[in-house]
Amino acid sequence: MIQLKCTCNNCQHNLKGHCDAGYISLSEKADCQSRIKRSGGALEQTFREMEAGEEFLSDAPNVVQCNARCAYNENNKCTASSVKFSDMLMKVRCETRIKP
Ligand code: SF4
Ligand code: SF4
Repeated sequence: MIQLKCTCNNCQHNLKGHCDAGYISLSEKADCQSRIKRSGGALEQTFREMEAGEEFLSDAPNVVQCNARCAYNENNKCTASSVKFSDMLMKVRCETRIKP
């Protein structure tokens, strides 16, 4: 299981840097395609995070399906032990990527 930290502040799967999607998929540019924006935006996420107990936070996705060229990519599956995703201007992108 891959440890994943995602700093996206507007995704239905995200609480306090944890992702509960279970299965996520990334584009050729290593952008997360499993992101679902919240109807209430980043403010809604902030309120959900205030309510969330630490014991209910998800650890990691079971599968990271990835289409990016990367040293950790084997047959479109991520083999890194931990990955970090960050908010970009319009996307959420994998920062752990190492271009081969
Ligand atoms: S990894 Fe993707 S699906 Fe998971 S919380 Fe981040 S943006 Fe959302
Ligand atoms: S580390 Fe590489 S293979 Fe894993 S998700 Fe990021 S870009 Fe894809």
